[in-house]
Amino acid sequence: MTSILSVGSVAYDSVKTPFGEVEEVLGGSATYFSVSASFFSQVDLVACVGNDFRKQDVQLLESRNIDLEGLEYMEGQTFRWKGEYSNDLNEAQTLDTQLNVFSDFRPTLPVRYQDSSYVFLGNIDPSLQRQVLSQVQTPQLVICDTMNYWIEGHFEALLETLKSVDILLVNDAEARQLAQEPNLVRGARKIFAWGPRIVVIKRGEYGVLMFYMDSEGTQAEDQLPSGDSLSVFGAPAYPLEDVSDPTGAGDSFAGGFVGYLAGVNRCDVQSLRQAIIFGSVMASFCVEKFSLDRLKELTLTEIELRYKEFKAMTQFEDIP
Ligand code: AMP
Repeated sequence: MTSILSVGSVAYDSVKTPFGEVEEVLGGSATYFSVSASFFSQVDLVACVGNDFRKQDVQLLESRNIDLEGLEYMEGQTFRWKGEYSNDLNEAQTLDTQLNVFSDFRPTLPVRYQDSSYVFLGNIDPSLQRQVLSQVQTPQLVICDTMNYWIEGHFEALLETLKSVDILLVNDAEARQLAQEPNLVRGARKIFAWGPRIVVIKRGEYGVLMFYMDSEGTQAEDQLPSGDSLSVFGAPAYPLEDVSDPTGAGDSFAGGFVGYLAGVNRCDVQSLRQAIIFGSVMASFCVEKFSLDRLKELTLTEIELRYKEFKAMTQFEDIP
């Protein structure tokens, strides 16, 4: 089975939404990503935690398809994030970020991780993303996520990372901020010029847009589309009646998206479109409960069922 190298935060989150409040629950970009992707592929996790990291949280990660050789225990506190959502659940307001052990994290990849084909650079310091990527010999596909915190404070470092990235995943506000361009289509074009060949823009409850450059003709299954015309694929978000907590939706999306691509070991347009739907399916489950509570109890059958609902929801006939 193909495995994915994943770097990002493993965190304790305190979150308030209009539907409840939790303190110091398991979170982090790499945590949501890994648990979500583990339904499709094996994940090799690169991150660090402090000596306050709870046994039950290690056990959760161990119980999935997640290799923890790259999870380092360091002296100090685990990363902390505190956020709040108003009635508009599409954007979190960050109240506090404490990098803690991540400030001194200088990972050396376990030997087995160095020949990874799929690399997910989860939301974390762009210099750390690059440090991890530079230790991978010949990555086949590099996918990167980021957020306003890094775009604002580490813009140059992020541009440097993007030079080696194939697919960038961001939300609409981040895309506008990064490209300094209010229009998403023009923003995606601008981002292409910095390195990525595919830009996936997550739009919360409004779904997702994938921009890529394509051309007529056949394409190998293991190669990203390329060409000179801008193409787009869009999918709605799954219309949920009850949303508890949007935290982790973006990373769970990434887990479904990258997990599926690695699982089938393909990245042609058809597979990318399917991956977008698997990403949307995983994000929709994540937000049903706080922390990783819904992902923990999720089954493959439920995932497949919701994928089919997506197909039914978006299929329509050609003009007669
Ligand atoms: P999202 O999928 O975008 O909702 O990501 C939510 C997760 O990102 C939370 O569990 C946080 O712990 C984590 N997070 C928040 N801010 C940062 C940051 N600056 N760097 C890395 N991870 C973060």
